[in-house]
Amino acid sequence: MSKSVFIVDTPNQCAGCLFCENEYTGEGMNREYVTLYCRLNGYEIKNIESKTDWCLLRSFHEKKRKQGGRK
Ligand code: SF4
Repeated sequence: MSKSVFIVDTPNQCAGCLFCENEYTGEGMNREYVTLYCRLNGYEIKNIESKTDWCLLRSFHEKKRKQGGRK
């Protein structure tokens, strides 16, 4: 199967990230906030003011440095 890359600005925290989503129960006036989760893997986000350890987004520069690539 072929692979694809989706390019976005790398967030410093979950707050404001394209993939950060609120979860609610109920509808209309009975709608209640439940939690926050990441739309990439469905994991719950405990603190939106930081980036999780399990975040799937990787900066190109970060990957290049880890592989010892050119700067
Ligand atoms: S874990 Fe990463 S991809 Fe998911 S909401 Fe947080 S910053 Fe965005």
